[in-house]
Amino acid sequence: MGSTTSDDPVHIVLFPFMSKGHTIPILHLARFLLRRRLAAAVTVFTTPSNLPFVSRHLAGTPASAVSVPFPEDVPGLPSGVESTDALPSMSLFPAFAKATALMQPSLEAELQRLQPRPAFMVSDGFLWWTLESASKFGIPRLVFFGMSNYAMALSHAATVENHLHGPTAEDEPFTLNAFPRIKLTKNDFERHHSQPWTEENPQLELLLKAVVATQKSNGLVVNSFQELEPTFLDYWNRESEPKAWCVGPLVPLEDPVARDPPLRTTWAEWLDRKRAGGERVLYAAFGSQAEIPAAQLREVALGLETSGVSFLWVIKRKESEILADVDSGFEDRVSGRGMVVREWVDQRAILMYESVQGFLSHCGWNSVLESVCAGVPILAWPMMAEQPLNARMVAEEIGVGLRVETADGTVRGFVKGEGLAKAVRELMEGERGEAARKKAKAVAEAARKAVEEGGSSWTALGTLVEEVSGGR
Ligand code: UDP
Ligand code: UDP
Repeated sequence: MGSTTSDDPVHIVLFPFMSKGHTIPILHLARFLLRRRLAAAVTVFTTPSNLPFVSRHLAGTPASAVSVPFPEDVPGLPSGVESTDALPSMSLFPAFAKATALMQPSLEAELQRLQPRPAFMVSDGFLWWTLESASKFGIPRLVFFGMSNYAMALSHAATVENHLHGPTAEDEPFTLNAFPRIKLTKNDFERHHSQPWTEENPQLELLLKAVVATQKSNGLVVNSFQELEPTFLDYWNRESEPKAWCVGPLVPLEDPVARDPPLRTTWAEWLDRKRAGGERVLYAAFGSQAEIPAAQLREVALGLETSGVSFLWVIKRKESEILADVDSGFEDRVSGRGMVVREWVDQRAILMYESVQGFLSHCGWNSVLESVCAGVPILAWPMMAEQPLNARMVAEEIGVGLRVETADGTVRGFVKGEGLAKAVRELMEGERGEAARKKAKAVAEAARKAVEEGGSSWTALGTLVEEVSGGR
């Protein structure tokens, strides 16, 4: 524990959780801190397998990426997997998150070595044990959960108003005293919320650890901006703790399409041709974690095909195998109009293409922000985690999108190709789609203002760094 004074250059430590959705916004935070000179140095901790991804994203910045070994031979976990995106099933998520705690001694050895002593650490909510490490070195810890204030506030209110336990059916509508105008169901919340808290349940155990450590931490860094959801931010800061700081959107503002040299991927060239032809393209992607069963994937293909619109569909390796199994002729039939991409893409760049006029999305929070920041309306199809709440927010609260209809009208129900095609056409060609597009463009403008000099997020980030590092 070295002695430092408040005149030392500010060194900030960031430790994202090992999944793309939790890592990408933290890497943008690193860039923002350095570009604004709020930090003289930034160190990002990750694991050896994730180091190439992290280093690639930090290239051209003075930030350092440091890898901390991930535990080997953890019972129940496949060896070599250091990211939840690479897990064979998301049911292993709790075991994976729990295993990260075995990194604690190695993290502390790295913290011991770090110079100058960090002013504070921002670590993911699922890395609850980092609070203890930070405390040992007298470093304040802030938490990053990667959720909207809307999802945080509604989850908090539904828990304290005791709506998630008890015999109510999963799809029975209810409202909250705190937000009486929002109609919700248990199925809008993560399933483990509604299970008894006494039950042996690895997900609950993890959540409890994360919540307890969060409450003892020095603040919450939220990837959102005040103007987007003021009521929900106010609710959180009034009814819960620690203080939430909206510093987002943690999305790069520069236009990646205008980069030099331009992108030379097959999908970029395909989008260029669509742009030249004046065609509107739907971008379809469901993030890095969602698992789509074979029967459902078949209906996605059917819906895209029968919608008649041009589309760019990004699928993961496993889905590509399933698609080949359930509908091997799909790509030939849609050739020219639809493109299937099977690699990691620059999603932000895709959304910035002029021809991309709609996003069929699982509503991961990063995807929602990236879409609205590009002024692209969303067709919301939530699949897991807090995505059903994000979908409500998109369609009902801010009006930047529509929802796909499930066959039985429930939040998590099966979606048929026919219903999907209808919703796709409404988004791309209908009046409701046009209204959402207009709203998305207005929100994009508000987001830009929030992160510009003097904007709400700009100011919040500056104040946060000053307040939290002031006590060094
Ligand atoms: N992403 C990307 N390329 C891909 C797939 C995903 O750049 O091929 C990015 C996407 O832009 C977003 C993140 O990965 O920043 C996914 O986060 P999100 O919260 O949308 O969903 P999750 O993957 O966590 O479900
Ligand atoms: N990798 C791995 N296990 C993980 C995460 C990554 O073995 O849990 C490997 C991955 O297969 C690749 C390298 O580490 O060879 C870099 O991973 P990255 O996420 O950057 O994959 P890419 O962007 O190349 O798809």
